[in-house]
Amino acid sequence: MNIDRIIGHIDLDAFFASVEERDKPYLKGMPIAVGSDPLGGKGRGVVSTASYAARTYGIRSALPIQTAWKLSQAAKARGEQECIFIVPHHDKYGTASAEVFAIIREIFPIVEQVGVDEGYVDMTELGSISAAEKKAALLRTRVREELGLALTVGIGPNKLIAKLASEKGKPDGLFVVPSEEVDELLMPLSLQELPGIGKVTAARLTTRGLKTVRDARKLSWQDLRKLFGSHGFSMYERLRGIDERVVEVVGEAPKSIGKHHTFFEDVTDIREVEVVLATQVQSIMRSLKRESFSAFRTVVLTVRFDDFTTVSRALTLSTPRADAKELELKALKLLLPFFEKKENPHKRPVRLIGLRIEKLS
Ligand SMILES: [Mg+2]
Repeated sequence: MNIDRIIGHIDLDAFFASVEERDKPYLKGMPIAVGSDPLGGKGRGVVSTASYAARTYGIRSALPIQTAWKLSQAAKARGEQECIFIVPHHDKYGTASAEVFAIIREIFPIVEQVGVDEGYVDMTELGSISAAEKKAALLRTRVREELGLALTVGIGPNKLIAKLASEKGKPDGLFVVPSEEVDELLMPLSLQELPGIGKVTAARLTTRGLKTVRDARKLSWQDLRKLFGSHGFSMYERLRGIDERVVEVVGEAPKSIGKHHTFFEDVTDIREVEVVLATQVQSIMRSLKRESFSAFRTVVLTVRFDDFTTVSRALTLSTPRADAKELELKALKLLLPFFEKKENPHKRPVRLIGLRIEKLS
């Protein structure tokens, strides 16, 4: 008997652009293209991520940056907001990604991360789709409240369907496709829309008059094998929504150990932050031992203010260190400027404090 699995596909919405918007609230809702420098229309390279506002101009990832520039200029000529071009800050996105996946792993035991902003979870153990939906909703709430980021979860009987479900649910949504609705979802899709079918493959089928999944299902697996060789059989399955791939937990050793704390109420008193930092130092040192590391060299402190502006400061020691006292002193050294006039002239309250160690040995 075939027992349905419950698989979730988690995808952060317009991830790089969303991190920029979160960290610079004056960008909120603006058309943003994170990618290479457009150099006034002469730039080379492509868009990495476009915010949803930029997508309404036709700007999307993988688009040549020159084309994005032209679309932005056209919008400006129409009297609309010009697109804001931002060169990627990968360190920032890496930190945000690690924070999101830490929450995902707290909620789900079986997690496969695919790139910085995407992953699969196996929720079969939860026993029902409604239980899975509840957990997915919890994840969405926590990531929104603790990190200020939106993500979409798609739920289905396998990875293929879960991924298609998350595309349906975007942005900032939760979308479920139960087994009995798989055909309904797949049949009208154009072949390019089916993950795992590349442009070239789709084009070869289109020239034969086969445009949709419904059309391509007319081919037997032998036909497909004749056309596409060994890939043919998996295509036959994909077209029918069959996907046996498992969610693989990649047992990667942590390259960093970190803790963060969201204050129940935003704080302006540095002493309250110091108390939390001291606890974080103890907890990080325990994790360091548990993960069989003995020392660290880099200390990173992250401060998020009440408006979600987020700033990280790091320092790297000349030699690896292993003592809690040293970590606490360095953390305080990084913290103090945030409570000084120069760094925080308007005495903005702190919402979250994070401490992380890297370069572990
Ligand atoms: Mg994404």
